[in-house]
Amino acid sequence: MITDYERLAAMNKDHLWHPFTQMKDYNNSDPLIIERGEGIMLYDVQGRAYYDGFSSVWLNVHGHNVPELNQAITEQLGRVAHSTLLGMSNVPAIELAEKLVGVSPEGLNKVFYSDSGATGVEIAIKMAFQYWHNKGIRGKTKFITMNQAYHGDTVGAVSVGAIPLYHDVFRPMLFPSHVIPYPYSYRHDGGEAGALEDTLTALRHLLETRADEIAALIVEPIVQGASGIIVMPPGCLSQMANLCRKYGVLLIADEVATGFGRTGAMFACDLEDVSPDLMVIGKGLTGGYLPVAATLATDEVYEAFYADYQEQKTFFHGHSFTGNPLGCAVALASLKLMEERNMIEGVRAKASFVERKLAALKERPHVGEIRQKGLMIGIELVRDKISRETFDWAERIGVRTSLRARELGMLTRPLGNVIVFIPPLVSSEAELDAMTDILEESIIHVTEGGSVT
Ligand code: PMP
Repeated sequence: MITDYERLAAMNKDHLWHPFTQMKDYNNSDPLIIERGEGIMLYDVQGRAYYDGFSSVWLNVHGHNVPELNQAITEQLGRVAHSTLLGMSNVPAIELAEKLVGVSPEGLNKVFYSDSGATGVEIAIKMAFQYWHNKGIRGKTKFITMNQAYHGDTVGAVSVGAIPLYHDVFRPMLFPSHVIPYPYSYRHDGGEAGALEDTLTALRHLLETRADEIAALIVEPIVQGASGIIVMPPGCLSQMANLCRKYGVLLIADEVATGFGRTGAMFACDLEDVSPDLMVIGKGLTGGYLPVAATLATDEVYEAFYADYQEQKTFFHGHSFTGNPLGCAVALASLKLMEERNMIEGVRAKASFVERKLAALKERPHVGEIRQKGLMIGIELVRDKISRETFDWAERIGVRTSLRARELGMLTRPLGNVIVFIPPLVSSEAELDAMTDILEESIIHVTEGGSVT
């Protein structure tokens, strides 16, 4: 008798092509098949329970199977599941737009919906490009991005991406972007001050010499995510924003990963009082429930497109599911819950708890650096703590640590040798305590071949 698990595993192998996955490796393993979720736990088809230690790819806010969110979807489902924003509107899309403007950095007054972080970035890039065109300023067509940036996987987003492993193969089909150093203090000889100085000097130089060719700078504010949860030195973002303003270059903040309380503020930009010209949001926007993203723009950007039809200033961009009512309804419910539960303050308290809890881990021989902003945590593992020598890629330290964590009942996905801990914002102290125990145990088990005593 073939079990349900075996049947699903066989079909999974036969027909599913997984994202960011070498299928040859994956097909040699027993797949984890999730069946349901409850709170911050996920359960597989064999009934095993796991903490969702990476918020199902950095997006879960309130946990899984949340009654209030389920209800918002069910109620909207009883009205209409989808209708377009082409030439008409819908109730949740309108109400959410107003709400988003209210919680976003000052000046962002217009909301353009899409369905993933990458499409939100694509829209921001196209808007920035056409903004200058519509203003009659020719030649401002290029973008500045940061080393190791990740903005999603569509072609425009990859063109402003700078992670060689993911992006280099596509380079011949992409538009070229200027790349400035990201301040990776841990691996900079001059530490935080030196890293900051390099970034600002490179940006200043580019803007002084080429601002007339540059449409916008795109940045993951305060925390660069996919490169390894790398936190900017204080003041970096605001100084970059000031330089953009001074030299007439738009600032695009990609808050897809950092938005909605993740860093201990509603948006990472709020941490340094930065008001970008365009801001991209996704992931946590719907509490992590449904695929909705948005690109917010200032009135200044919007007005460059606002003209008589014959002037050909229209923004010709949209997706079938732009402004999906189910997604917008659950996003509204999620924001309401965030407010009612005072979640942002909660994140700050929980972040301090995690920081205290992980203090001892810092002393272990293979823990190079623990980086944290709010509940966004990356632990960089190194072969040698003094020289900061990295583990060889082939040793798959990150993957092995994550597999050990899974055995111990927590899910996470590494970024190379960086272990990612991005728990749902709703996690209680007891849950954070249990998850950090698993983190510690897994890291020590894999890097020291032992167990926590
Ligand atoms: N921007 C950033 C900063 C991200 O971290 C991500 C996804 N991890 C994206 C964009 C792309 O979002 P999506 O996967 O929803 O396309």
